[in-house]
Amino acid sequence: MSIRFLCQNCHKPLEVDDADAGNEALCFFCRSRNTAPQQSDPTLATAQLAPELFTSSRPAKSPVIGIIGLIASLTMLAVITFTVVWSYKNGYLSAMQTDNYTSLSKTDRQKVINKKMAESAKQPIMQAASLTFIALLIFGLGFSVAGLATRSGKSPALAGLIISLLVVLLLIFSIISTLKRPPG
Ligand SMILES: [Zn+2]
Repeated sequence: MSIRFLCQNCHKPLEVDDADAGNEALCFFCRSRNTAPQQSDPTLATAQLAPELFTSSRPAKSPVIGIIGLIASLTMLAVITFTVVWSYKNGYLSAMQTDNYTSLSKTDRQKVINKKMAESAKQPIMQAASLTFIALLIFGLGFSVAGLATRSGKSPALAGLIISLLVVLLLIFSIISTLKRPPG
């Protein structure tokens, strides 16, 4: 079902979903903001007007929730990129790429990895980055889901959700591949 009413500014007939009753709706014709009534205008509800007269008017919801989700996801992406670059620069990851490392036995390699992981985890910058990462992930996911659910900024919310999930998948994949690194 839908609610039909007249634009307060240009008096053209508008139509919104029932779910948008009481919400702001942009007039398709004159772009003015209307508050959608709770019920259809009785003259329009029963009028034998051609259905194409009723242009779906898009709810004028602010996209702010979805945009916050997207920004949080992008910031999370930046934090993880920074962390990886920092780890390489400080030798925590590059130590695993050397000839020395590849000639080690599997157990010794695991020891090197564990030692490097423990070393880097002790760095305040890494602790701060992990905390920021987790906070931004929860924040970004929360806002993205809320943005989708409330249709407030659907597209940025969807983009934020995809970025967050991709980063999480990438992390899971890299953890699994580190653990399953074949010997020799
Ligand atoms: Zn209008």
